[in-house]
Amino acid sequence: MDREALAQRYGMVKANIPEGVLLVAVSKTRTVEEVRALYDLGHRDFGENYPQELREKQAVLPADIRWHFIGHLQTNKVKYIAPFVHLIHSVDSTRLMDEVEKRAARNGHTIDVLLQVHIAREDTKHGFSWDELDALVAQWDRTRWPHVRVRGLMGMSSLIEDRSGIATEMEQLATRFHALQKAGPFCQEFDTLSMGMSGDADLAVNLGSNLVRIGTAIFGERVG
Ligand SMILES: *Cc1c(COP(=O)(O)O)cnc(C)c1O
Repeated sequence: MDREALAQRYGMVKANIPEGVLLVAVSKTRTVEEVRALYDLGHRDFGENYPQELREKQAVLPADIRWHFIGHLQTNKVKYIAPFVHLIHSVDSTRLMDEVEKRAARNGHTIDVLLQVHIAREDTKHGFSWDELDALVAQWDRTRWPHVRVRGLMGMSSLIEDRSGIATEMEQLATRFHALQKAGPFCQEFDTLSMGMSGDADLAVNLGSNLVRIGTAIFGERVG
């Protein structure tokens, strides 16, 4: 690992992120040493996609890291991350919400989550459809999920070159986020709009994102 190159890329990414926007460094497939190197530069928010990988890293890395879970989460894996996870970005079904509720209650705390919305054209991406999101909002039941705090929305735009197409997807998500913030059933702290990755973070921030998830631009190209 080239620490100097890492520091340089990190500095450049940070310089482009305005005040009030949280940078989550996506460390999936990166080594513990790479995470530690970024930690040593002062970074504390890291995002991971795989529960077991996250659990292994968390066990050996400093306790003040805030771990964000951003990948698709199977219900039978929630238990691995429930004791320590800072924010789950990828809740995409009421069944998963039920499981997060159960594990949070067992651990004696609440867990913060975002609702992932499927905004991309590819159907390989996960998330609530707009109709499913509407249905959830309409039937929102605080007493069913007392240990889950819905803090906002997350979306992944299409993997396409067409910037205006991506912008349209992001605008839809931002519009819905602001509507729910104004008049939604969720908690007072409904304050997080997680959208934007290495290729489209600038666009996302311009369209109202306040949390960007960036891997490649910080750590370099992923191998494998
Ligand atoms: C991998 C990943 C990212 C980061 O992607 P980069 O293009 O490497 O910045 C962001 N969000 C999610 C959900 C991811 O899986």
